[in-house]
Amino acid sequence: AAVPSDGPTIFDKIINQEIPAKVVFEDDKVLAFRDINPQAPIHILIIPKVRDGLTGLSKVYGVLPNHAGIVGAFTACAFLGALDQRRWMHAYAEERHTEILGQLLYAAKLIAKQEGLDDGFRIVINDGPNGCQSVYHLHIHLLGGRQMNWPPG
Ligand code: 5GP
Repeated sequence: AAVPSDGPTIFDKIINQEIPAKVVFEDDKVLAFRDINPQAPIHILIIPKVRDGLTGLSKVYGVLPNHAGIVGAFTACAFLGALDQRRWMHAYAEERHTEILGQLLYAAKLIAKQEGLDDGFRIVINDGPNGCQSVYHLHIHLLGGRQMNWPPG
């Protein structure tokens, strides 16, 4: 299992378009793309486009589309980015993330409709080592297209 890390994750590379992803939904705050190792016929990851776009500090700078391209120009932003990364070690973090969590969950509902998951779906958040979290950038899983079992095991 991956251990929590302060560094950029594979999702940063997807946000920055350094590696390809099959994007299914995007708005100003949220990006959703197909999981590379799907656990169901439909398996989509829904992530915030910034690690901590809703903190007071980030609001001063506006919603930064990503950390690329600004590092050379604004060292202060790079510093804030490093701080942001520390805050996103776990899937759930602090009270300030309630807004983005709501936006991720609402996006999941829109995507489920877009994907034709009219018979239902499952939303999952893996948190920390015991939750089998492997990528330490906040994300939710949208799974569907088959009968989901309970308990998941
Ligand atoms: P976690 O276990 O942290 O909740 O979920 C991370 C998910 O990211 C896993 O389901 C894994 O398959 C997916 N994943 C890891 N690397 C990549 C990648 O490079 N591209 C895509 N699309 N998904 C990835």
